[in-house]
Formats: sequence, structure tokens, C-alpha cells
Amino acid sequence: MSAKPVRNIVILGGGTAGWMTAAALSKALGDSGITIALVESDVIGTIGVGEATIPTIHWINNLVGLDEAAFMAATKATYKLGIEFHGWQGDGHQYFHPFGTYGAPGDGVIFPHRLIRGWLGGLDASPEPYSLNTQLARARRFARPVGDPRSMLSTIGYAYHFDAGLYAAYLREQAEARGVRRFEGKVTGVEQDGASGFIRSVTTDKGDRLAGDLFVDCSGMRGLLIEEKLKAGYETWPDWLPCDGAWAAPTPADLQGHPYTCAFAHEAGWRWRIPLQHRVGNGYVFSSRFQDADAARETLLAAIGEPSAEPRLIRFTPGRRKRAWIGNVVAIGLSSGFLEPLESTSIHLIQTGIGKLLSLFPRAGCSPLLAEQYNRIFEREMEDVRDFLVLHYHFTHGRDEPLWRHCQQTPLPDTLRYKIDQFRASGRIMLATEDLFRDASWFAVMTGQGIRAEDYNPMLDAMSDAANLEHLEKVRGAIAQSTAQIAKLP
Ligand SMILES: Cc1cc2nc3c(=O)[nH]c(=O)nc-3n(C[C@H](O)[C@H](O)[C@H](O)COP(=O)(O)OP(=O)(O)OC[C@H]3O[C@@H](n4cnc5c(N)ncnc54)[C@H](O)[C@@H]3O)c2cc1C
Repeated sequence: MSAKPVRNIVILGGGTAGWMTAAALSKALGDSGITIALVESDVIGTIGVGEATIPTIHWINNLVGLDEAAFMAATKATYKLGIEFHGWQGDGHQYFHPFGTYGAPGDGVIFPHRLIRGWLGGLDASPEPYSLNTQLARARRFARPVGDPRSMLSTIGYAYHFDAGLYAAYLREQAEARGVRRFEGKVTGVEQDGASGFIRSVTTDKGDRLAGDLFVDCSGMRGLLIEEKLKAGYETWPDWLPCDGAWAAPTPADLQGHPYTCAFAHEAGWRWRIPLQHRVGNGYVFSSRFQDADAARETLLAAIGEPSAEPRLIRFTPGRRKRAWIGNVVAIGLSSGFLEPLESTSIHLIQTGIGKLLSLFPRAGCSPLLAEQYNRIFEREMEDVRDFLVLHYHFTHGRDEPLWRHCQQTPLPDTLRYKIDQFRASGRIMLATEDLFRDASWFAVMTGQGIRAEDYNPMLDAMSDAANLEHLEKVRGAIAQSTAQIAKLP
């Protein structure tokens, strides 16, 4: 095993994943003397979708050192306070998955138990008035969270909608300013070491040869290095996540756009609506087993009206690479897998790829132990997100189209079944420390999808039913008051 340090990093691909990786590595590696080259092909282009994020996006923006106002202007971004789900329990039904927490500051994870206790005692109330994020979203108001844990504003969480192409371009500026060298051209040759299997260099149709000790494969779904060269293998879950295509099309900007994503259930999939500053992003994610592509296109157009550009069809296979790090190649972005965009998790998974690479940054020999750790965490992360998605697809009691019936009848992954059983039995949300979605998210989606808890944490019995209801009422009032004091979006 070589004890030499990594000297040259080659990033293959200049989509969101490639430029996020380039910006983060160039910032984190600073003046270490490590060179970073990125190669991308204008002919191949990028996938061109990916507009919604979750609050973890602040991690990379802070790491790279982005100024929020400048970043939002450059990427035509809007604020996102959560996701509104329409029709997932049948037409007319809706619920909200807020970022941020339920209840007042200090209520923490016990708050959902207060609500469950109220419900079991006959309280007829939706969780929405007990979430400041939801109330702000509904009222088109916005404030940033504050650090003071006594302030109601500490319960807020937010992310952004942005134009992913502009985001990649913005990060490219940051990365190039820090010395990342960009090469344009199609990679047509890959040189591999016969003994170790390590990738030594890639060459382009323009004649450039890029040698490296470490390669980051950000080449998109095909996985040029990780799959085509290194045969990582791909695990799929077509019964749990049956959607495998999407039509995407923009419509004109909505000047009164909502600070949240909408996800509408349809006959054979679901449709997103994402307001940006300069347009509204729309897309219909569908299962080709239950609807052909032409009919899916019609479903989208019937819902959104006249688009401002031709709809584009994107096919995908939900799943993950069995190994995302092999030898001296680490796959980040779509090259490592894709679940589907219902909870806007792909850009987050790019970040966790970058985070793992930084914390497990190798020497030039690329210890297989580091790769093993990376792959173990990657597997858990992907399964954790998969389970959260399956939760939406499985519990759709009011829908009886063939896709939804199929999902209702497919047995759950054991890991998800366990969480549901625990919640039903005692109202508890059993999370591992590394789980991405936390109590408020699981509570919002489980209750939104119609799962009911049969008990609550008995610690609450220290107070009477009446005192619990009084507390709930106080929280509702305080949230309404805070909402009224927060400025409306322009
Ligand atoms: C329908 C849909 C909706 C989505 N919505 C969201 C969302 O709301 N939120 C979210 O977080 N994510 C979303 N995603 C995922 C998101 O689009 C991707 O995770 C993100 O764009 C990263 O893509 P990428 O950079 O890995 O791949 P790509 O964008 O495909 O980039 C691949 C790069 O590799 C280059 N390349 C490939 N082959 C070669 C070659 N031979 N030579 C040189 N260069 C090459 C290409 O030119 C390109 O630069 C969505 C995805 C889909 C399919």
C-alpha cells in the first residue's frame, strides 16, 4: 500500500455533482498542492433537472463559502419551507411535510406525543397549526431560523428551490477561482493499471490526457468508470419504487409563488410543481409498467397547461451502486445511484458523498478499508432514504389505481416495517443517529399518509389531559402570533 499522498484528483463530469465536488474539494484542500481537474462534455450535457433541496444544503453552501443573497440571485432561487402533498389519500386530500420542528421551542421530540394524546382523547385537529414552518408556508411568509433555543424562530427549517444548471455554473466559478482546471471533451479512453485495477488516466476526443491518483466519477447515470469499467453492480427496488420515468417542462414564472414544493399524486405516479424566480418547474414522475410514455406526457400537459418549453422525457432505474468506491474511483451523484425526486434527496446525497470523501480522504494507495467504510455508510444512507420514499408509496388508502394498489400490496422492507410498528404501538419514531429524516419529518409523513399511533409516551401522564390540551392550545396561539409578526414574501 502506497503511503504517498494523493497529488492529482480527476473529476469526471460537470453536472451538479461534478461542480459541487470540485467546489467543495478545492475549498477543503486549500493550499495542499493537490491539483484538481474536471472534464465534462458539452455534447453529452447534463441531466438538466433537480431543482428542490432540503435544509442540509446549507452545509455545502457554508463549506464553499457562498453568500446567500448572491447565490440566490445567481441561481434564481426561492425559499422552500417543506412539501405539500396532494391526493396521496385520494382526491381532495392534502398534508404538509414541514422542515423544522413541531411545537414550541423546548417541546422537542415529545411534542408529537402531546398531539397523539390529544387525538386519542378526541381532539379533532390537524398537525398543521402546531408547526411554524407550515403556517409560514401557507401564509407566504418567511424568516430565517435563529440560534436562541428560547425563540419560536428556532423551530424553523428551510432550504431552496433553484435552477440546477445555474447552481452548477455558480459553483464552477468558485471552483475555477480556486484553481480547478476544466477540460471540455468527451472521455473516449480509460487507462487502467493491470495489476491493481486502479484507473491511471482518462483521455478525451480532444486529445487531452488526464492522469490522477484519485478519480471521482460524476458522469451521471451510466457511471462511466464505476460501472462501465469497474462493474460495481446495481441494486434496484422496482417493487417498492416502481416509477422509472419523468416528463419535465417549465411554465412561466408565478410571481406569487409558494415557498414550498407541491407533489400531486396522479393515476400512475406523481407530479412536482416548483416555483423559481424565472419559471415554474413541473414534472410528472410515472411508472412505465402502469402508463406508457405518451399517456404520461398527456397527464402532465393536462395538469400544467401550455408549457414554455417542450416537455423532456428522462428515464431512470431507482437503485444504488452496490459499491460506490472501488480502488481509486469514488462515484458521487447519479453515477452512484438514484432513488427518485419525491423528497428532493439527490443533491443531499451528493453532499453526503462529498462529506464521506473528505472524512475518509485517502492516501494515493486508496486503502480498501476506507472504501469499505464509505460503502457501508452509503448503503445505509440509500436504504434510509428508500424507506422514507416507500412510506409515501405504500400508505395510499384512498387511491385505487393499479399503480397504487400494487404499492399498497407490496410487503414493506423490514427496516420500514419496524419503524411503522413502533410508531403504531407507542407513537415513538425509532431513528438511528445517522438517519437523514428526523422525528418531525417522519411524524408529518406517517400521519399525513394515514398511519395512526395507538399510544403515546406515558411520561406525559405527569400532567392531566386537560393540561395537555391547554398546552396544545397555547402552542397553537403562539405559532399563530409568530406567523402574523413575520413579513410576507414580496
Ligand atoms: C426527474 C428527475 C428529477 C430530479 N429532481 C431533483 C430534485 O428536485 N432535487 C434533487 O436534489 N435532485 C433531483 N434530481 C437528481 C439531480 O438531477 C441529480 O442528482 C443532479 O443533477 C446530479 O446529476 P449528476 O451531476 O450526477 O449527473 P449529470 O447531470 O448527468 O452530469 C453528468 C456529467 O458527466 C458528463 N459526462 C458523461 N459522460 C461523459 C464522457 N464520456 N466524457 C465527458 N463527460 C461526460 C456530462 O457531460 C455531465 O457533465 C432529479 C433527477 C431526475 C431524473
